[in-house]
Amino acid sequence: MSFTIQNVFIPVDGGYETVDVQIEKDRITKIAPGLEMLGKVVDGNNKLLLPGFVNAHTHSSEMWQRGLIPPVPLELWIAELYDFAPLDPEQVYLSALGTAVETLLSGGTSVVDHLVLIPGKEIETVAAAVKAYQEIGIRAFIGPLIQDQALASGIPTGEVQREATPYFRSTQATLELMQEVVAQFHSPEAGVHILVAPTGIQLCSDALFAGCIELSDRYNLCRHAHLLETKAQKQLAQEKYGCSAVEHLKRIGYLSDRTSLAHCVWLSDADIAILAETQSTVVHNPLSNLRLGSGIAPILKYCQAGVNVSFGCDGSASNDSQDLLEAIKIGSMLHNITDFDYRHWITPRQSVEMAAFGGAKGLNMAEELGSLTKGKKADLVLYDLTSLSLLPRTDPIGLLILGRPTQAVNSVWVNGRQIVDNGEVATVDVDELRHNLFERSQWDFNRQSKTVGEIEAHYREVMGLGLAKEYS
Ligand SMILES: [Zn+2]
Repeated sequence: MSFTIQNVFIPVDGGYETVDVQIEKDRITKIAPGLEMLGKVVDGNNKLLLPGFVNAHTHSSEMWQRGLIPPVPLELWIAELYDFAPLDPEQVYLSALGTAVETLLSGGTSVVDHLVLIPGKEIETVAAAVKAYQEIGIRAFIGPLIQDQALASGIPTGEVQREATPYFRSTQATLELMQEVVAQFHSPEAGVHILVAPTGIQLCSDALFAGCIELSDRYNLCRHAHLLETKAQKQLAQEKYGCSAVEHLKRIGYLSDRTSLAHCVWLSDADIAILAETQSTVVHNPLSNLRLGSGIAPILKYCQAGVNVSFGCDGSASNDSQDLLEAIKIGSMLHNITDFDYRHWITPRQSVEMAAFGGAKGLNMAEELGSLTKGKKADLVLYDLTSLSLLPRTDPIGLLILGRPTQAVNSVWVNGRQIVDNGEVATVDVDELRHNLFERSQWDFNRQSKTVGEIEAHYREVMGLGLAKEYS
């Protein structure tokens, strides 16, 4: 299938150019004004073409709990999340579709799903997400979320010595499971990539990290994890290792140019230097960090140190949406208050670069994705500059990033396949998805988490928050 986008705006140094863009099969083959029309002609007049962004960290099945968890920090939030996690692979399928739809309609063409597995139905969970992503046609990077220590281990003890709480599945069994997931589902040519994705140092042993490194090396898989999302995790790393989490991950060999790390809020300058040296990628999830009170990640410092940065929405229970443009907007301007030198602030064009190229780089795909370049994969988003939210005519990228674009995405292609056409998802029935999400949920105003009730007192004590009040 070939097509040509005619008379479309693309960004160039110092402004924009109007060009034709030719796509043959899955790749961009020509970009120039006045091209011969090849295949279907797409009207690019008054539209802006950008490379697709990467939603570089999310957890799709959290969609079932969005808007529901009260404002509490990560350690309590996650206890409630897991008390009510979906247990049916069909729900996983539907929330993966929902995550993909919202990502696509806010400029994303790739999603990194750090996928929460249903205990006892792990393979079915991955199969459900893969099915959804293949049906809709988004490029999917699925990192089954694994750990080998129980949730309570993720909270500092307040003492030097600690013992890992046993987890229901052994380290060995978890690694065998990952091996099976890779064998069954890893098929980059079909747009499905499996990542190794231990949840983070807070709940994973060195043996689990070592097994993941081995799998990553054997099958050329990217590596993913949460890193120092909260102050509690920083404290925990000191308890567990006697050094920072970043130093420890470097020591055990987890950091690399295909390692992406979600959050990275509580890093020291020495940690930042390690990320730069190992060419690791930071995934910035600004809304989740605000929602959970985790803190403001030092993104300007990362940029100045030469650390690659991309954007993620994070799961829908800590955001509580999958609007990538919103995450990019907040994640760019949030840092202006952290540095008086406005020359360090992130410009709209830099935001686009981070969201597209930064995202691709963090997934070891910089050669294939992330820019409008001849020979690269046709993962493209066409924005309608006559959308009310992008008017009047000013600077297209300035308004796309700093404004509040609504219904601005006109068309999306992934691997040269059209997924969104004239603002509508063309590959799946979104009305049916709405119906299913409605039918499988109920209004829920007053639920109580048992686990939060059990751990809140300890959390408050160890974090120096004084007397525990009843959780409500
Ligand atoms: Zn996360």
